[in-house]
Amino acid sequence: MNAHPDSSRQIALACDLCGSTTVRELYTAKDRLRNTDERFQIAECCGCGVLRTMPDMSEADLADYYPHDYWGGAEPSEKWIASSQSEKKKLLSRCGLAGGRILDVGCGSGFFLRALDPKKWDRFGLELSEAAAEAAGRALGSGHVSSGALTRSALADASFDVVTFWSALEHTNEPRANLREARRIIKTGGSLIVQLPNAASYQARLFGGEWFKLDAPRHRYHFTLSALDRLLSETGFQIYEKSYFSKAHNSHALRQSLKSRLVSRDSHGLNRALFYLCIPLIKPFDWAMTAMGEGATLTVAARAE
Ligand SMILES: [Zn+2]
Repeated sequence: MNAHPDSSRQIALACDLCGSTTVRELYTAKDRLRNTDERFQIAECCGCGVLRTMPDMSEADLADYYPHDYWGGAEPSEKWIASSQSEKKKLLSRCGLAGGRILDVGCGSGFFLRALDPKKWDRFGLELSEAAAEAAGRALGSGHVSSGALTRSALADASFDVVTFWSALEHTNEPRANLREARRIIKTGGSLIVQLPNAASYQARLFGGEWFKLDAPRHRYHFTLSALDRLLSETGFQIYEKSYFSKAHNSHALRQSLKSRLVSRDSHGLNRALFYLCIPLIKPFDWAMTAMGEGATLTVAARAE
């Protein structure tokens, strides 16, 4: 990454991946969900190169940045739930995961778990938002969903076959502690699935602070495959499957990133015209880039060793 050599500075919260307390600011990003002028800094860790969102925020501070409808509004139909989760279910099949005891960390309103066959899966969820955890609990049964962090949940050792983090690990200040805890509760030989935005993707490089998937300030760490792979090996996992495809996320992120670059309140008419001309090209272009390993979403399955 390009940064001025003098732009590094000390920060209070050490990098969770390498322990360094020095970062270099690369660019700023705004909160795409709230129409405010507040800007956040995306900084590169001087120790390991992972990108982080600054300033440091506690979980309590961050809670204020999740709008009440972040986990969905009105109750969707079962048909919508099934189709919205089909890509995740296909990944489970590809990994040979056909049933067992499963925990979804950051389960939101429980859509992924609800799409799994209850005859094959014993389904559990954890969710920081109490309202979302309640909605998930209503659908999955009492005792199956708790509100709170994995690091404070005190689940039994080796009690799960599969643990999933769908768009969740990048939201925590403590990815290492979360993965350690996941390793403790997964049986040896069991699977961990992590899906998050790919900070090494063409979209991340092209759009910088305007990349839709930065989701500042809610995303605290912006992972590449190499950063995630290193953290997984250090916490007892070995990656055995990876993908950069996501019908749900990739081309949508390209469209939104292009829109924020080209279409704003005071943008030039030509830029707006360019955006509308690009629309039919978004899906095929993104698909081609994803096929070359440049996709905006990274999904890995890792074995607990
Ligand atoms: Zn670091």
